Order: sequence, then C-alpha cells, then structure tokens
Amino acid sequence: MKKVLVLAETRDGQLRNVSLEALAAAQVLAEGGEVVAALFGPDSGAHAATLGHHGAGTVYVADHAALAQYTPDAYVQALKQLIDHVSPDAVVLGHTAIGRDVAPRVAARLGYGLISDVTALEPGPVFTRPIYAGKAFQKRKFSDGMIMITIRPNNIPAAAADTGKTATVVPFDVEIKDLRSIVKEVVRKTSGKVDLSEAKIIVSGGRGVKSADGFKPLYELAEVLGAAVGASRGACDADYCDYSMQIGQTGKVVTPDLYIACGISGAIQHLAGMSNSKVIVAINKDPEAPIFQVADYGIVGDLFEVVPLLTAEFKKV
Ligand code: FAD
Repeated sequence: MKKVLVLAETRDGQLRNVSLEALAAAQVLAEGGEVVAALFGPDSGAHAATLGHHGAGTVYVADHAALAQYTPDAYVQALKQLIDHVSPDAVVLGHTAIGRDVAPRVAARLGYGLISDVTALEPGPVFTRPIYAGKAFQKRKFSDGMIMITIRPNNIPAAAADTGKTATVVPFDVEIKDLRSIVKEVVRKTSGKVDLSEAKIIVSGGRGVKSADGFKPLYELAEVLGAAVGASRGACDADYCDYSMQIGQTGKVVTPDLYIACGISGAIQHLAGMSNSKVIVAINKDPEAPIFQVADYGIVGDLFEVVPLLTAEFKKV
C-alpha cells in the first residue's frame, strides 16, 4: 500500500479534468493505500470537495498569493516543500503546460526519475508512453526511488464521482522566496469555449480552409458538437488563425474522442499531435491525401460543401 500525491490544477477558476484523471491513476498506484491531492493558489480550496468525491482522502491547500499564477520558481518551491512534508511514494501531475514544466524541475532537484506523457498504466507499475512522435509506444518502469509521472489528458478515464466520499482539507503553509519572475498580466488566446487539450471533440482546419473567414463553417460545426477548434501549422503560418490553435509536433498534442480534420493534408508533424485520437474523420478533396491513411472515416470532397452539411445534420440530432 502506497501514498500517492496528485498536483491538481485549476484554470480560470475551474478544476481541470486531467486532475480527476490523475486521481484515477493515483488510485491504481496507491494499491489500496492513501491518495492525497494538492491545490495551489488563493481560492483553489473551493475544489477540495470535488477531489474528495474522486478519491483524494486529504487535500492540501497552499493558498499563497505567489501561487495565483503559475511561475516555475513558486510552483517548484511549493511542490518540493509539499513532497518533503507528505513523503509520497509517487507523485502524479497532468501532462499540461504546467505539469510539463514543473515535474522535471522538481524531479531533478529531488534526484528522482520522471516518466512523462503517460497514456496508460498497469500493475507493476508499468507505464506506457508514446515515442517517435506517436509512431510507437514504450513501456517503462522505475527501478527504485519515488515514482513521478505526468499523464496525458483524455487517456486515463476519471472515476465516477462518489459524493459520499469526502476529503480532509489541510491548509499548507509554503515559504516562497527569491522569485525570479512575476506574472503581471495573462492575455489568453483561445480557439473557443472548449479547451483544446482536454476537448472530447475537435474540429480542425488546415490550409484547405483558404482564409480566416474559411474557419467560420468549422466554428459553426464546433458549436453544434460542443467541440474545440484546432488547426494545422499550415493554417497558422498562413495567418488564418492563431498559433495557440496549432496541433502537432510543435503545437498541442490532443487525444479527443473525435477529431475532424478539414483541409489538412496529414503531414507527419501534424499526425504527431492527433494520431492517437480515438476516432478520426478526414475531409479532403484529394483522395491521395496522407490524412486518409490514419482516418477511420474519410470524406473525399470540398470542405465548404461537406462541413455545412454535417452541421445541418448534427443540428437535427
Ligand atoms: P497542406 O499540406 O497545404 O494541405 C492542405 C490540404 O487541404 C491538402 O491536402 C488539400 O488537398 C486540402 N484542400 C484544399 N482545399 C480543400 C477544400 N476546399 N476542401 C477539402 N480539402 C481541401 N504542422 C502541423 O500541423 N503541426 C505541427 O506541429 C507542425 N510542426 C512542424 C515542425 C517542423 C520542424 C516542420 C518542418 C514542420 C511542421 N509542421 C507542422 C508543418 C507540416 O510539415 C505541414 O507543412 C503542415 O502540417 C501542412 O498543413 P496543412 O495540412 O494545413 O497544409
């Protein structure tokens, strides 16, 4: 029986779904032992009850003002102090912008290993993670020491909430000093209402949309499906949309239940960011486009005809 610590994350005041997935992973690693969670930042404690419903027995809340916005200095100090205090056997974070940044820093300072971007875990524990831009998967184990992993969003299912389960909330005083960076303002560019990295459905546009206006039918389809809108780098480079929407090797890595690629050729660098989506639909007027090799469903046609037809049909459902 082990003690496992989860660093839960909030964004715009909302608890991120990957934190609930991290709790599910933590329960596997704990082997019936103790799962504890941490919330950083003022007002973050409001989410302690939800973490309890999803399996955290104790929630440590560090509401220091320096944790209001992510900075590596503050988060590294807070997480390291918490690990020293809790002495967990394993630490689980989301493979998010924050998790990817803070986990290796803390692992290096503590002298432990880190397995990042975990997509599955099995007793042992053995961790599966993609390599070679998603073309292959490797299985990894820790030889000894504390286990530290980041999990890719949308891969390890969160457990259903049990409102009968409650967590003990423990305020945790952290000492944060010598900050080398301070966030003064956050200007967020988003592709829509749904966060791309956690979206269950993504409608994505490539150079085939031909202009910024060409994205309009994609937004309409996304609205009907409750989807996020993404893009290829081709579309971003052509200034049809913002780089925050880019999916791929040098953009965001996504694993939605449904990925609809519109006017995207399927370059290897794009596939690196989306080929693990559960169902891929490709709309492209070139029947030879490489995207069809990874697509579960392919529609050879003009996206400006096909996408509005799909929108109209989904509106009927
Ligand atoms: P294109 O390859 O030009 O494809 C456009 C497609 O639209 C074509 O297949 C065409 O048949 C189709 N089309 C045109 N009109 C229509 C229509 N009316 N209806 C239907 N289909 C239509 N790319 C990424 O996406 N993400 C990355 O992270 C990324 N990282 C990179 C990193 C490096 C180091 C390098 C070198 C490249 C990277 N790229 C990345 C770029 C990548 O190689 C491709 O250039 C890019 O993905 C192409 O974008 P695209 O598919 O939108 O454009």
